[in-house]
Amino acid sequence: MADAAANKKAARKKSASKKAAQKKAVQRKASASKKTARKKASRKAATQRFDVLVVGAGFSGVNAGICLKQRGIENFAILERAGDVGGTWRDNTYPGCACDVPSHLYSYSFEQNPNWTRSYSGYAEIHQYIRDTAQKYGLRPHLRFGVSIEKAEFDEQAGEWTLYAEGGDRYIARAVVSAVGGLVDPSWPQFDGMDQFKGDIFHTARWNHDVDLTGKTVAIVGTGASAIQVVPSIADKVGELNVIQRTPPWVLPKPDTPIGGWMKSLFRKFPVAQKVFRNAILALSEGVFGPLVILDTPLDKGLQKIAKFNIDRNVKDKTLREKVTPDYDIGCKRVLFSSDYYPALNKDNVNVLTEGVKGLSEKGLILSDGSELEADVVVMATGFKINISEPPFEIVGLNQQRIKDLWSGAGGKAYKGMASYGVPNWFFMLGPNTGPGHTSVLIYTEAQAKYITQAIQEILSKNLKYLTVKKSVLDSYHKKLQQRMQYTSWTSGCQSWYLDEYGENHTLFPGLATEYALSARQFDVDEYDTEAA
Ligand SMILES: Cc1cc2nc3c(=O)[nH]c(=O)nc-3n(C[C@H](O)[C@H](O)[C@H](O)COP(=O)(O)OP(=O)(O)OC[C@H]3O[C@@H](n4cnc5c(N)ncnc54)[C@H](O)[C@@H]3O)c2cc1C
Repeated sequence: MADAAANKKAARKKSASKKAAQKKAVQRKASASKKTARKKASRKAATQRFDVLVVGAGFSGVNAGICLKQRGIENFAILERAGDVGGTWRDNTYPGCACDVPSHLYSYSFEQNPNWTRSYSGYAEIHQYIRDTAQKYGLRPHLRFGVSIEKAEFDEQAGEWTLYAEGGDRYIARAVVSAVGGLVDPSWPQFDGMDQFKGDIFHTARWNHDVDLTGKTVAIVGTGASAIQVVPSIADKVGELNVIQRTPPWVLPKPDTPIGGWMKSLFRKFPVAQKVFRNAILALSEGVFGPLVILDTPLDKGLQKIAKFNIDRNVKDKTLREKVTPDYDIGCKRVLFSSDYYPALNKDNVNVLTEGVKGLSEKGLILSDGSELEADVVVMATGFKINISEPPFEIVGLNQQRIKDLWSGAGGKAYKGMASYGVPNWFFMLGPNTGPGHTSVLIYTEAQAKYITQAIQEILSKNLKYLTVKKSVLDSYHKKLQQRMQYTSWTSGCQSWYLDEYGENHTLFPGLATEYALSARQFDVDEYDTEAA
């Protein structure tokens, strides 16, 4: 009996001390989380100061960082809302995602990669290339991840920008490079009943890899650049694939092949050979494809005939052929490249539907004719919000002027796409009218990184409070640019994301990439009003 009582006492003691330990652990946890919360709260109020801030760590932001370092400017930070560099190529991981400009051209001219495995590389390889480049050029210490900028305000007296991040942190700098990308935030269509659908639904730009498509009935909404890569990549895996097409694209064959070992070792041994190869691709895109796509001339008919032949050769069924043949001039919308899109549409389990989407039900899509299209998975291939001609967040410049108001009605307007009137010491990469329709974006953004860092060096070395583009310089530049638009294919009478609500093009440059790059070669301070510190 005595033993039993002693055991009970010992057990009670043990349990009491266990409880006490648990209580202590809970208290420790609570105090730790209070500490974390306090830390977070104090981090919320944190303010950091730099000479220069770059917002965005995609191809453009990384390029800007490299150019700053090359000019001896070290006191800068690259603020990125995600957890890694890469931008487009970090976020887009859908099946078949690859570039549609050959990799040897769609890469930095100063950091040629002899090891591309395909002529048009996939997203993972491009993402790794951007990571490697950031590492090689010593950008890691400058990168700040998880920083999403929501507002920027210029202090005229101090000649400083304050960038406000989500969560309350502030970043102050004398100059800002906005490298937030043009096609970065997915555009979700607003259909009725979106929340009713019981299956899986996601956007191509945020592909849900947890969803296994094997044997499933899938509906893909849209037939743009992403869709034409997804469709052939999943057609054999899914049970049934319904492609919802509003407007068919013009699609030309894509000469995508693996790159042989001999070519890689040639480029490794003789980098000059790779330079020649790169320049040959550039010359072809600028000399032949560019004029055909950009200008609205009778020569377009030749290119259109080739694209039509591509449809006729690949699509055997007459009804399908009619459905996928565009009724607008080639070049008016983005010309796409694929050699496996049309063959995929021929497959028995793939259907092209031209009825629009009216809404969603529990089981699938409600089409414009009232019918219900059942689906296990709905993929939105509906493109992106166009950031090129819109300010990415609230930007308040001189005299408390918001850039949104400056651009409202007239559309995005910036000198050489980089400097907006009334927004001093602020430079856009891939800003208004600097996108291409025919070649690599990087020809433009490389030129911009060089121009912008020249301008920033001017501000820092001459200790200027600020510089801001002269209104007359910007107005005359913009007027000439818009006059040229009337000769382009983009205004030949179709609807596209190139045009704004007034039918004006504030996204693309109406000329060749080399013309743009040459025009942005030299920063000229005389084109800017300056204010001494
Ligand atoms: C699927 C796809 C394929 C493409 N293929 C080609 C091609 O073959 N050839 C071609 O020339 N172009 C192509 N493009 C265009 C492509 O976007 C550009 O070539 C290039 O990647 C743009 O780089 P960027 O750095 O300017 O922008 P992004 O790559 O978009 O990077 C912008 C970065 O800014 C960050 N960011 C945005 N807002 C904020 C904020 N408020 N605060 C902090 N960080 C922010 C984003 O997270 C992102 O990392 C393609 C685009 C897509 C979507």
